[in-house]
Amino acid sequence: MTDGAPAGARIAVDNPATGEVVGHVPDTSADEVAGAVARARRAQRDWAELDARSRAEFFARGRRWLMAHRQEIVDSLVEENGKAQEDAIVEIVYCASAFAYWAKQAPRLLARTRMRTLSPFVLGRAMYTRRVPIGVVGVIGPWNNPLLNSFGDAIPALAAGNTVVLKPSEHTPLTALLMERMARECGWPKDVFQVVTGAGATGRALVDTADFVMFTGSTRTGRLVAARAGERLIPCSLELGGKDALLVLSDASLERAVNVTIQGALSNGGQMCTSVERVYVEEAVYDAYLDLLHERFRQVTSGRPAGLGSTDVGAVTFPPQLAVIEDHVQDALSKGARVLVGGHAAPGPGRFFEPTLLVDVDHTMKCMREETFGPTLPVMKVADAEEAVRLVNDSDYGLQATIVGSDTRRARRLAERIEAGCVTINDAQTNYMALGLPMGGWKDSGLGVRHGAEGIRKYTRLQSVSTNRFPMRRDPHMIPYEPSGYRLMLRLADVLYGAGLRGRTK
Ligand code: NAD
Repeated sequence: MTDGAPAGARIAVDNPATGEVVGHVPDTSADEVAGAVARARRAQRDWAELDARSRAEFFARGRRWLMAHRQEIVDSLVEENGKAQEDAIVEIVYCASAFAYWAKQAPRLLARTRMRTLSPFVLGRAMYTRRVPIGVVGVIGPWNNPLLNSFGDAIPALAAGNTVVLKPSEHTPLTALLMERMARECGWPKDVFQVVTGAGATGRALVDTADFVMFTGSTRTGRLVAARAGERLIPCSLELGGKDALLVLSDASLERAVNVTIQGALSNGGQMCTSVERVYVEEAVYDAYLDLLHERFRQVTSGRPAGLGSTDVGAVTFPPQLAVIEDHVQDALSKGARVLVGGHAAPGPGRFFEPTLLVDVDHTMKCMREETFGPTLPVMKVADAEEAVRLVNDSDYGLQATIVGSDTRRARRLAERIEAGCVTINDAQTNYMALGLPMGGWKDSGLGVRHGAEGIRKYTRLQSVSTNRFPMRRDPHMIPYEPSGYRLMLRLADVLYGAGLRGRTK
């Protein structure tokens, strides 16, 4: 084997909330990945030729399957990821809505578009563009949302007529395998959707063979994927890390501000690319906001998810992440920050970190600059919104930001000065559910977007077709060049772009 695992190798999957091994999956070798991509390529032609209605019917079956099997899927997500059941259901509802949305919108968003032009060189030509599926889309996903950021991105790729090979994170591969079962039980054509489990080498093998890569994960791996895609000259879309900020303006409803902060910072245990990881509060309301935040933060529960209402914050999914969270807290404390709530890893079994509220923080601290990806929240007082905007933009990342304030016009003006792909006002994270609204990062947070027209068009190649319906024996601008043709072209150009019909021509 040149790359990837030896044949028959398997990867153990643990439950982060208990430490117990809950399954084993194949560590797919590079040769096996190449085989899956070859099968997907063969299946793609027929899938692309299906009319939109037939594809919509397969999607409708998938949607119904998801809703009918929701408890089984929730259990799988909770077991392999350690998240609260309430966080898990969001992933399922998202995918069900994505099936409905892309089935309905794909024909419109991918329809042929007629073009008009006034150029004197091509007057009267009929022109249109058409979109052609790229082929086999390799989707590579992270561990924090095993369904949403993996299978969720496969849906528009399939809707555009591509086939998909999905490589879920090696830490959370079980739910993706349920989606392979969904495809079988819903009678989807063979090999239209396949899952290859494995670690980084399996992902690399997919980047080596797919026709397009949809990658969600860390900025570090994203750079490797982009470099390899560049070598192969294939397109890729990268959804990477973040250090999302929340700004509390002095006219904000503090109740709303605190609720949005806690949801944004702690949903999914703070393990979202769009988690609120730093808060800036205008001086005038800092004390009042912090008092209320402190009171509510203390009430947040954390621990093993065991059904509805059992916990607000689940486990730390990825083993090395505990050390990162610990390091960011210790670094802040060593530079003068104070912990108001939490501050420690919780004792096992399983991996947990206490929901942690930090104050007296500044931009010399890792917790304000590097992605923490855990249930910690540093809060900083700023003189005013000007200072806040400067600090929000003082970041390598630019995924999302949130502004809470009553004067929405002022909030929007500030939003437009923030260097991030998405800004939400008086909400955090909910924009992800608006499938018509593009979502993607600036700076080190990524390239390209998911959702919206671009979120499906990226999975296609564009072909332009131009027809001369009334071809003359020769055009005015053709070899051998003639002065009369030259003058005619110039006259036309002058009418269109110059001094007009009555203007001077030379
Ligand atoms: P990661 O980069 O370690 O791994 C992501 C995936 O890439 C995994 O499936 C992994 O096996 C695979 N991989 C590893 N090396 C590879 C290689 N050389 N070539 C191809 N694939 C390779 O990320 P992670 O730790 O699983 O996920 C957490 C990160 O994901 C965080 O930074 C988070 O912010 C980010 N994330 C971003 C978004 C977004 O939409 N922007 C959404 C969710 C998570």
